Amino acid sequence: MTELLQIDRLVTEFKIGGKMVPAVREVSLQVRKGRTLVVLGESGSGKSVMLRSILNLKPTGAKLGGAIKLEGEDLLPLTDKEMAKVRGNKISMIFQDALSALDPLYRVGDQIVETIRAHRKVSKEEARKRTVELLGKVGIPAPEERMRAFPHEMSGGMRQRAVIAMALACDPALLLADEPTTALDVTIQAQILRLFKDLQRDLGMSIVLVTHDIGVAAEMADDIAVMYAGKIVEYGRARQILSAPSHPYTVGLIEATPKRGQRGKLPAIPGQPPLITAMPEGCAFADRCQHAQDACRASQPSFTTYGESHGAACHLLQGAQPIAQ
Ligand code: SF4
Ligand code: MG
Repeated sequence: MTELLQIDRLVTEFKIGGKMVPAVREVSLQVRKGRTLVVLGESGSGKSVMLRSILNLKPTGAKLGGAIKLEGEDLLPLTDKEMAKVRGNKISMIFQDALSALDPLYRVGDQIVETIRAHRKVSKEEARKRTVELLGKVGIPAPEERMRAFPHEMSGGMRQRAVIAMALACDPALLLADEPTTALDVTIQAQILRLFKDLQRDLGMSIVLVTHDIGVAAEMADDIAVMYAGKIVEYGRARQILSAPSHPYTVGLIEATPKRGQRGKLPAIPGQPPLITAMPEGCAFADRCQHAQDACRASQPSFTTYGESHGAACHLLQGAQPIAQ
């Protein structure tokens, strides 16, 4: 089996105004072993909700449906206690506001020691050794010394490295990262992305990285899933999606991204995605799509797969012909 994680028709519903409203709408995805899947989309597309759903993290009253299989085992029916074992051990998550993952009142090293001991039966001394090793692994210089620092004594980039070290504490097979570099300046961002790649090469874990930044996707992705209004509208190998996108939304995203050396005004996609409380009956992108036809507003396009691993959901592709750009 080359897939570590297989998500089948995941639905995440929120209770809004007494009604159940889907924020994630029948998402199916695969995460390959030792590879990076980038989930790309604008804010509000449901990508963070989807990511948190993998760990069964949801607000009160929310409901999950479908299946999330980690090496064949469905995580959704697991009890809270069973799920707590999966979290941190097999799957770790770096949240969007990663810096708040560190408690300002405790030394960084102590927090990592505690994380290790929460998951593994090891002595304090062993956990301390492992912490020094982890801090070194994520590129924190003089880890013996730095582990005694408080979060505010570290720069943003160093704190993010410490958060990554904490996520790696128990050798997860899968690392989930929600916009892990958005809060950092461009130079530090490049260093952190490089670190993810080095860690993946050395440790062999799979990564699911959520971003709105197509540059990050181009840098990191083996596979890309483009998410819009709670659905995957295009999925495939990164190379293929970035060089020959099929869905009008992906085409728009790529055209709106500055190319190296490009000058002048960029074409942005006009309009806004629909609110989850007001989803149209047909294609959710229709109001912003220059190719929209009557059929697009009448019914939702189904996901068409073509080639070995590429697919998109658009009425124009039903004949399995990518649209001309
Ligand atoms: Fe555009 Fe229609 Fe395709 Fe939706 S289904 S993306 S509206 S062409
Ligand atoms: Mg988000």
